[in-house]
Amino acid sequence: MIPDQETSVSAVSTGGIPSCVLKSIVSHAVRRSPLEACGFIVRDGDFWSIHPVPNAARDPEREFVMEPQSQIDALGRVRGSGSDLFGTYHSHPKTPPVPSEKDLQLALYPDLLHLIVSLAEGEPEFGLWRITNRKGWTCAGFGA
Ligand SMILES: [Zn+2]
Repeated sequence: MIPDQETSVSAVSTGGIPSCVLKSIVSHAVRRSPLEACGFIVRDGDFWSIHPVPNAARDPEREFVMEPQSQIDALGRVRGSGSDLFGTYHSHPKTPPVPSEKDLQLALYPDLLHLIVSLAEGEPEFGLWRITNRKGWTCAGFGA
């Protein structure tokens, strides 16, 4: 999607997410492909983890909706552990790591970072995004 005027776009890094965490996200994405995979990225100091959540979208090849009960359970575990919620992740099996219109409409956590992993090319590509308003996203980083 084309960023609007209020959206600044800059390419930095993948937000300091360790490569082992990125690999876990890629492996979840590959397992679920051609459906989109989704979940949370959690940080507790130097310790990072992912919490996969089932995709309950009506068209899971083109969008994702976190299954509500699994989402609540995952968030409960995160809060119970005293960790920080770093962000969400989801995969784009066939398109670049850029938020879709649906992603923008359905984004539930505007304060979080949103990592998208694309499997469209041979090597996984990542885009890290922050919603700036209901019309646009700020890119916080790209990587591969
Ligand atoms: Zn998406």
